[in-house]
Amino acid sequence: MTPQAESVLDLFRTTGAYLEGHFRLTSGLHSPNYLQCALVLRHPRAAEDLGRRLAAELRTIVDEPVALVVSPALGGLIIGHEVARALGTPFLFTERGPETRKMLLRRGFTVQPGETVVVVEDVITTGGSTRDVIETLRAAGARVLAAGSIIDRSGGAAGVGVPRVALATLQVAAHRPEECPLCRQGVPVVKPGSRPA
Ligand code: ZN
Repeated sequence: MTPQAESVLDLFRTTGAYLEGHFRLTSGLHSPNYLQCALVLRHPRAAEDLGRRLAAELRTIVDEPVALVVSPALGGLIIGHEVARALGTPFLFTERGPETRKMLLRRGFTVQPGETVVVVEDVITTGGSTRDVIETLRAAGARVLAAGSIIDRSGGAAGVGVPRVALATLQVAAHRPEECPLCRQGVPVVKPGSRPA
């Protein structure tokens, strides 16, 4: 693990955002730990620090000026805002439409044709949300230069169609329920994510 990733995970540990227990991930797999970004991002100084670091990582893969940062709500809001602060750009967010679940720019948000954008999320697992945001931005004529996240839970495997960085790339220990040692011990499983864990 890189020194950057070690220090990011330390920040998760010291803020109580590195949860240990028995979790059911969105994939359906079970894991003994979970990184709850909302718990580290509740501290504005930690959020600002992570935003500055992610902006610096993005600058290493983007060689032209970034005009805009865009994130999917809700998970990307705080970190996207902090990356935008560090890059000196405005910040917009997308929301899923109530019916089609398509990522939409609402609230009067617009992008200009040719505008250069980076897409920022808290955690990338499959890359689905970031890909959906990129599709929406391209449909609006923007040029998506890169994507970034605090955590990459895919072990680097998730592709989003543009260059991508993460502050910490992890291969999450996960088991199918029928092979899960914690299930075998009878430990109750909880679903983290947006609910209290
Ligand atoms: Zn289990």
